[in-house]
Amino acid sequence: MNYITILQNHNLKVTPQRLEIVDILYKNGHINIDDLYKSLQSKFPSLSLATIYKNINTMCEKLFLSEVKIPHKKNVYELSKKEHSHVICSKCNTIIDINLDISTILNKAKQISKFNLNTSSIVFNGICPNCLDKKENLS
Ligand SMILES: [Zn+2]
Ligand SMILES: [Zn+2]
Repeated sequence: MNYITILQNHNLKVTPQRLEIVDILYKNGHINIDDLYKSLQSKFPSLSLATIYKNINTMCEKLFLSEVKIPHKKNVYELSKKEHSHVICSKCNTIIDINLDISTILNKAKQISKFNLNTSSIVFNGICPNCLDKKENLS
């Protein structure tokens, strides 16, 4: 995967910081700003949180990144892809993407609300298989 081309395709200026952000997002899938800040500090110790915010906002504006709102938790960022839903572990905060056909739910919501709806954001909370295993081992 050539990160430089990807950034250029989104009309984003290529900087070493941005390349590193893209790399971190590819490896992590979803990350909040604090964890991103921590991950960037080893390579760019002088990079401020404000600069990271600015970079993230620009990349969101160019639709290169998407913000995922997680109820009661910090928003996370991911590389933009086709609309999908999220599953999050309440113990370890692991987030995974799931593709669900939500057209039935969306139509139902339209019917009930009489709104013209086009997007949705669904987040499921629960315990991931890893944490479930750990619990069993303890008991
Ligand atoms: Zn977990
Ligand atoms: Zn996602």
